Amino acid sequence: MKLKEIYSDKTQKPVISFEVFPPNNEYEKLLEEIKVLREYKPEFISLTYGAGGKGGKSFELLQQIKTLDINVMPHFTCITSSKESITSALVKIEQEGIENILALRGDIPDFEINRHFDFNHANELVEYIKQRTNLSIGVAGYPEGHIESPDLYSDIKNLKKKVEAGADVIFTQLFFDNNKFFDYVNILRDEGINLPVVAGIMPVLSEKQLIKMTSMAKITIPDIIKEKIEKFKDEPKSLIKFGIDYAASQCIDLIRHNVAGLHFFTLNKSYSASKILDNIKGVYNG
Ligand code: FAD
Repeated sequence: MKLKEIYSDKTQKPVISFEVFPPNNEYEKLLEEIKVLREYKPEFISLTYGAGGKGGKSFELLQQIKTLDINVMPHFTCITSSKESITSALVKIEQEGIENILALRGDIPDFEINRHFDFNHANELVEYIKQRTNLSIGVAGYPEGHIESPDLYSDIKNLKKKVEAGADVIFTQLFFDNNKFFDYVNILRDEGINLPVVAGIMPVLSEKQLIKMTSMAKITIPDIIKEKIEKFKDEPKSLIKFGIDYAASQCIDLIRHNVAGLHFFTLNKSYSASKILDNIKGVYNG
C-alpha cells in the first residue's frame, strides 16, 4: 500500500512503522529482530541509506526483508549520487514491487570528491522521483529546525518546496519534547502544509547512543533525561527501562493528540520498541 493511503486510513491510527539500518554484516541477526517487530503489525519497515552502517548492501537487504512479508520503505539520499545511478536505482526499486520511498538529500560529505551536484536538495529529488515513478514519497521534517537552517521558519519554507514537488508524508527527526512536535505541526498547518506528520521516536538506550544521535542535530534533551543518564551511568538496564517508560509516555501523549503515525528508530534492536508498544497497547488499536 502507498504511503498516501496508509496515512489516510482512519481505522489505523496511529500507523506504526520501524526504522532499521543495513548492518555491515549480521544480516541474519537483523532479520531475527525484524521478525519480533513483525508481531506488532507495522505498516512497513524503513531501511536507511548510507546512514548508521557503512557498506551495507541495502538492496539485497530490502529483498530479504520483503521475503518476511513486510512492506519496506527504502530511504534514498541524493547528495553523493549521480542522476544516472539514481535513475537506475529507482527502476530497480519499482521492479521489486516497492511502492514507497523516503527522499532525502543526505548529509554533506566531509570530502568534496564524494559529492555529486546533480541534485542539491531533497525537493529536487522529490520532483525527479515524482516525474519518473509511481512511488509514494516521504520527506524529512525537523521540529526544531534542520541544523544548517538559521531558524525554524526558513527550514519550513524549504520543507514547503518538498511538499510542492510531490511529497505525500512528512517523517520527523526524533524529538524528546512533545511540545516541539505539536508547535511544529501547528506552524505547518498555518503555512498551509496539510500532509500527515509522522513522529520520530527514539527510546534512550545509552549515553553514547544519545550523543551520537543528537550531536549533529537540533534536538532538545529535557533535564529529566540528563538526570537519569547521570543517575544510571553504571546501571545500563535501569537506563533502558527509563528510556522505554519515557518514550511510552511520549507516545501516549502523541496518540491523544491524534498523531498520524509513530516511526520508531530501532537502531536494529527490537527490545525497546516492542516494550513501548506493549506498554501502550491500551491506547492504540494495534
Ligand atoms: P533538505 O530538505 O535538502 O534540507 C537540507 C537543508 O537545506 C535544510 O537546512 C533546508 O532548510 C535547506 N534546504 C532545503 N531545500 C532547499 C532549497 N531548495 N534551497 C536552499 N536550501 C534548502 N540521512 C542519511 O544519510 N540516510 C538516511 O537513511 C536518513 N534517514 C533519515 C530519516 C529521517 C526520518 C530524517 C529526519 C533524517 C534522515 N537522514 C538520513 C538525515 C538527512 O539526510 C539529513 O538531515 C540531511 O542533512 C538533510 O536531508 P533532507 O532530506 O532533510 O535535506
